[in-house]
Amino acid sequence: MVVRARTCSFIREGGRPCRATPLRDEDFCFWHSPNHQEEAAEGRRLGGLRRRKERALAGA
Ligand SMILES: [Zn+2]
Repeated sequence: MVVRARTCSFIREGGRPCRATPLRDEDFCFWHSPNHQEEAAEGRRLGGLRRRKERALAGA
């Protein structure tokens, strides 16, 4: 295995690197890749909705 563990090149607010596993042949992870920005946004939106629903169920 030649490829060492790469990390996402994205620098978050505060100067901290993302450090997530980048996509194959890309410098950024799924969340920060310009090629997947819309998908990532959608995934975040859905994840947020799901979390909210779970909390609502837990409270019921
Ligand atoms: Zn990233």
